[in-house]
Amino acid sequence: MRIVLLGAPGSGKGTQAKLLVEKYKIPQMSTGDLLRAEVVAGSELGKKAKAAMDAGQLVSDDVVLGMIQARLSKPDAKGGFILDGFPRNIPQAQSLDAMLARLGQPLQLALLVDVDTDVLMKRLTGRRTCGSCGAIYNIHFSPPKTSNKCDKCGAALQHRSDDNEQTVGSRLKVYQQQTAPLVNYYKAQGKLRTVRGVGAVGAIFKNVTDIIESQIRPLADVMVKIESAAARQAAKAKAAEAKAKAAEAKAAAAKAAKAAEAKAKVAQAAKAKPPMKKAAEKKAIPKAKPKTRVVIKKPAKPAAKAKPKKVK
Ligand code: AMP
Repeated sequence: MRIVLLGAPGSGKGTQAKLLVEKYKIPQMSTGDLLRAEVVAGSELGKKAKAAMDAGQLVSDDVVLGMIQARLSKPDAKGGFILDGFPRNIPQAQSLDAMLARLGQPLQLALLVDVDTDVLMKRLTGRRTCGSCGAIYNIHFSPPKTSNKCDKCGAALQHRSDDNEQTVGSRLKVYQQQTAPLVNYYKAQGKLRTVRGVGAVGAIFKNVTDIIESQIRPLADVMVKIESAAARQAAKAKAAEAKAKAAEAKAAAAKAAKAAEAKAKVAQAAKAKPPMKKAAEKKAIPKAKPKTRVVIKKPAKPAAKAKPKKVK
């Protein structure tokens, strides 16, 4: 299943995403988590993103899109994914649609976790996250059993640097201005469903899974049927093509064998009879006449005149 979780910072969509990962065994892709990991690693990308994150502003689209594209092309994304914190504005949503269209895996559901703004403030400033296993607590609503320690793994809890009152105010403003318009974007595509994000986490999760089961499951079943019928059809076509190719090869081999046989026959016949033409040709060739040599005689030298004898 391919889902986008929409909701203001502090709406609890991250918590719901983690529960969905456990239930459906598909990866959660949180651009916030990916960016925080880059900041911790001190990478160039992290350095670029940190200033915007600390100010409660959005990190530039090209940085986030590059990151999400790389994440979506990993093999574990083939079985589906839960996008958490992405897209954050209309251009990101349009780019996501284009990416998924190229992969032939369109989004199936945009689920809005809806919480009133005054509740969000308390949730965000009171939020604490386990630095080791990622479990989320709230010092006002769901504190850990031991102060500042994770109930699950005992690691120290962390207060995100962007969960202070001033930054939270900016983040909520940015959400209203840039992210809230996505509600209408997905409504227009017929993919939006809303769940109230207040009350017990388990009760919210029940509503979330009810929506998923009713929205995606029937569609997924139909898709499985369509895909297996298409696969059967493709296999049939491939078998027919292979059969045709084999027949073609057989015909070509038979033709070649026939041609070789004919050639061999001709050669045999030629061996049996001496070639007539050659004998006739031999007869017809006239013997060359011996060439007559033309000898040019040099004119004989006139006899030397006898010198008159000297009279003494
Ligand atoms: P989050 O954990 O989702 O609340 O994100 C924390 C911060 O990371 C945000 O306030 C932004 O600065 C940044 N961020 C997370 N996701 C995106 C996104 N899709 N586009 C731009 N900035 C983001």
